Amino acid sequence: MSICKTCYKDSKYHTKQLWEIHHREKICTLCGKPGSSHSERLWEMHSLIVRKAPRGIIWPLKIGFGRDVPTVIVGVCVWKNQSLKDLKPIYMECQNCKLYLGDSEVDLADVLDGVCLKCFRELTNQTHPWYDIPSTIKQVNKQ
Ligand SMILES: [Zn+2]
Ligand SMILES: [Zn+2]
Ligand SMILES: [Zn+2]
Repeated sequence: MSICKTCYKDSKYHTKQLWEIHHREKICTLCGKPGSSHSERLWEMHSLIVRKAPRGIIWPLKIGFGRDVPTVIVGVCVWKNQSLKDLKPIYMECQNCKLYLGDSEVDLADVLDGVCLKCFRELTNQTHPWYDIPSTIKQVNKQ
C-alpha cells in the first residue's frame, strides 16, 4: 500500500499502467505536458500519434499564439541559397472530419474520443445553438 504522488489516492485504485503514468516524469512529445497530467487513455492516444509520426529529430515550432507544435525534421531543402529545415508537424487529427485538433481538444482527447468539438457535438446531438451560450448567461436568463 502506498499513496500516489500525483492523485493522492491509494495504489489499489490504480491499474499497473496508470500507476506508471502517475509516476512518469517523462514529458509528452505531443502536448508538452508531463506524463502525470494525463489519464491512462490520454497518454495512450498522445503516444500513438507520436509513434505514427516520421522518425527524426523533434523540433518545437511556434505557430501563432498557440503552444509549441512538435515537428520532425524530415530533411533539408534549399531555397534562395538558404538551407531550410523541412519540418513535418506532429498533429492530432479529428477521427471524424480529419481536421487538426486545437490545443484544448488535444488535452480533452480522452473525453471527446479523439474528435473535434464540432464533431463531438454532432455525434452527441448537441447541435442546438443553446450550447453556444456561456453557462453564466444561461443562469441570468433563467431568472
Ligand atoms: Zn495516481
Ligand atoms: Zn500529451
Ligand atoms: Zn471533427
